[in-house]
Amino acid sequence: MSKFSLQGRTALVTGGARGCGLAFARGLAEAGADVAIFDIIPPDEGFESIEKEYNVKTAYYKVDVSSQESLQSGFEQFQKDFNNALDICVPCAGINRHLPFLEFTYKDHQDLLSINVLGLYFTAQLAAKQMIANGTQHGSIILVSSMASLIAVRSQLCSAYCGTKGAVRSMCPAIAKELAEYKIRVNSISPGYVRTEMTASFPHLLENWKSETMNGRIAEPEDIMGACVFLASDASAYMTGQDILVDGGVTRCVTGAV
Ligand code: NAD
Repeated sequence: MSKFSLQGRTALVTGGARGCGLAFARGLAEAGADVAIFDIIPPDEGFESIEKEYNVKTAYYKVDVSSQESLQSGFEQFQKDFNNALDICVPCAGINRHLPFLEFTYKDHQDLLSINVLGLYFTAQLAAKQMIANGTQHGSIILVSSMASLIAVRSQLCSAYCGTKGAVRSMCPAIAKELAEYKIRVNSISPGYVRTEMTASFPHLLENWKSETMNGRIAEPEDIMGACVFLASDASAYMTGQDILVDGGVTRCVTGAV
């Protein structure tokens, strides 16, 4: 079997109802994995077709990752339905808030932290516990950070968001170190500018951002899917505690495309 194959594996993606999370769910299913998604909203139409298209099992659970209760009961139901199987977890659910630093309120910041940091952290923790209990030899946790963890994104007022994504990026190696003895790898992905609902409200910015990339275009969710499938598979068996930046070269380029 190809080292890229995920046949026989089970994956869980949070924030999988749309955008990057849905693309990750689709990519993992295409490589052969059964896929469950946790989200506060019902999945886009694209999710329904995955099961038939790739002949895998799929399921959606209404879960709010910022609530420990909701997360816990989501995992309990998922464990029942999938017979405790879990090899791959992609905590992807996230939000952004656009406000100047001087106007950010405590509540705004708390909302971001509770989803982007605490929600992600405890999803990863519950997933790791399940992987340890089921003894998977292919455990892979893929945290979703952002290019915004590295640079001040042009024309965006999102200091708190950048901080949450920095937290994700920097917790990754520490978690990876602790889970290595259980043969669970932990890596992160940092997407650049991706066309999703999160960025849709800034059409003029999307246009400006193009010129910052080396390839002159904004990513579609499918453009970052490959990094996720690679990190989920045995093809990346020696990689742990790392981050993959999928940003069209933005962070390697001072002025963008010429
Ligand atoms: P999106 O808004 O399209 O999708 C986010 C998903 O998370 C939605 O389905 C939403 O319902 C879900 N979600 C939000 N709060 C939740 C909660 N409390 N519990 C469960 N689900 C919840 O945005 P996206 O661009 O696809 O973002 C996905 C991830 O990618 C986020 O973590 C985001 O920070 C990251 N990211 C996005 C970009 C980009 O340019 N779009 C760039 C870098 C990183």
